Amino acid sequence: MFKSLPKRLSSLRDKATLGQQMGLVAALLCLVLVASASISAALIARQQTKARVEAEMTTLASNMAERLDMRMFERLRDVRNLAAMEPLRRIWEADDAGDARNVLEQLQASLSEYTWIGFATADGTVKASTSGMLEGNSVAARPWFKQGLQGPTAQDVHDAKLLAGLLGPSPDNAPFRFVDVAVPVNGSDGRVVGVLGAHMSWTWATAVRRAVLDTVDRGLQTEIWVLAQDGTALLGPGFGSRPLDAAALERIRSSGRVTLEDEATRTMMAAVVAKGYLDYPGLGWTVIARRPLDVAMAPANNLAIIIMLVGLGVAVAGVFVAAGVTHRLTRPLCQLAESVDQIGRSPGTTMVELKKSSKDVMRLSLAIRSLLRRVMSAEAMQDQTLEVRAANEALTAENRALQVLADTDALTGLLNRRAFRDLATDAMAYHRRYRRPLGVLMIDIDHFKAVNDEHGHAFGDLVIHEIGKILLLEARSLDKVARIGGEEFVVLLRDTEETGPEILAERVRARISQAMMQGPEAQAVKVTVSIGAALAGAADRDIDDVIERADKALYEAKSRGRNRVVLAHPEIQTAAA
Ligand code: GH3
Ligand code: MG
Ligand code: MG
Repeated sequence: MFKSLPKRLSSLRDKATLGQQMGLVAALLCLVLVASASISAALIARQQTKARVEAEMTTLASNMAERLDMRMFERLRDVRNLAAMEPLRRIWEADDAGDARNVLEQLQASLSEYTWIGFATADGTVKASTSGMLEGNSVAARPWFKQGLQGPTAQDVHDAKLLAGLLGPSPDNAPFRFVDVAVPVNGSDGRVVGVLGAHMSWTWATAVRRAVLDTVDRGLQTEIWVLAQDGTALLGPGFGSRPLDAAALERIRSSGRVTLEDEATRTMMAAVVAKGYLDYPGLGWTVIARRPLDVAMAPANNLAIIIMLVGLGVAVAGVFVAAGVTHRLTRPLCQLAESVDQIGRSPGTTMVELKKSSKDVMRLSLAIRSLLRRVMSAEAMQDQTLEVRAANEALTAENRALQVLADTDALTGLLNRRAFRDLATDAMAYHRRYRRPLGVLMIDIDHFKAVNDEHGHAFGDLVIHEIGKILLLEARSLDKVARIGGEEFVVLLRDTEETGPEILAERVRARISQAMMQGPEAQAVKVTVSIGAALAGAADRDIDDVIERADKALYEAKSRGRNRVVLAHPEIQTAAA
């Protein structure tokens, strides 16, 4: 159950076809290559798109900063021009403030953001102002006045102080806030006779911001903030709040323009420090364009997703192509295997076709064809060997039959003289070695000549044949019976008892004498035999000595009147024993 990974892989490998394995490897390769290519492409594209979005937001912030600086520069130029106009110089020093007030009100009428324009004498007393507001009051302590005495100045956004009570409620109920510009006014003798100052309602910055934001798609949820040099908010989040930490501010200040990602608020920010315009040095404002990170990154992320999807499509197509190609490439192998499998199964199929789909497959099919040819010629050789062996066996059988024929007496089927002699010699050697009794019976038909003469030669042959049968019947299977002459037989008794030859001889003689031979004229003819028996003894030099003694005993039987058994000479027997 818990097989090791290499074992699992190898059992999987054994189950899958070559085509499947090649397809799998090609498909994996395709997946890995396409996946790595599309992931890198997606990352690069995402990075570049993000950089483009950051650049666009930076442009937006710097656009806002330039517009703010330009407006401030223009207001400063307005008051500076007014203060420097030669024809107006006398009205600042005139006792009556009416002309000066007229001029100031004309300037105010030219631009709605001028909330208050006034001229204060060198001691800080407001001499003339729009709508006569604050005339006679002292502005000696106001920063714009103090700075204005020194030279042209711009003062950062601040809440209305002296004018707050005079202006009534603001349109949005927020406190009135101003930015101030002020320049010194020189008299005809060149002395500073006072300061010309203007308060602009800070709401103009909101209008500028609206104009800038109109250039971008609302769906992008872009915000623009303006921060003062000390990091307090002038426009955007709550006025006077500090939306950025010191580190972020420091980064912005040191590099002038920077993009930041705020993970806490999931926001992308492009910050630009306003540098002023011409001789207006700027107030060190920082303009920040902000966008929710998700919205800002959407184009980059979408592009990355599209690239990944295209990559996925290509990979899937690649997998199918790989599967198809490997199937095509390995099909000849399957076909080759099928045709090899048919050999010996379907009749007449003994060879495979030469496949030429590739060098390897061609080599394999050539090798299989060569193998089949070798197998066929080996089979043919085997057939030939079998044929030769069969012929040899037939020849051996024939030889054996010939041998039997050569050893057999044709008339009786008994052993002939030659075969008997070989066996008898063999038996003699055995007797000599193991001292087992060996006997010989010599048998001769009595008056056979007369049988021939009376009943014909053919009947004589029949008698010979019948007597042979009786001898075979009576002898033990161990004994050997042979016909050794015309009507003479011999029986060799191997491994017998001492009395064996005599007993057998007597039994044979009796059986033959009782047997009825069917004569040619339907008469029964009786024949008898005489038998000489001998046992091999120590004096016998060879089997011929034994046979000779049996033969002598036979003649004695003849001479004693025939149809009897005579044992060989007893003295010799005793000597032999
Ligand atoms: P004895 O009792 O003294 O043996 O008398 P016999 O007639 O048998 O004597 P002998 O041995 O002289 O005669 C043998 C005869 O057997 C001679 C021959 O005609 C006959 N004979 C020998 N061989 C064959 C044979 O193969 N077939 C036949 N039918 N007769 C044979
Ligand atoms: Mg004879
Ligand atoms: Mg005879």
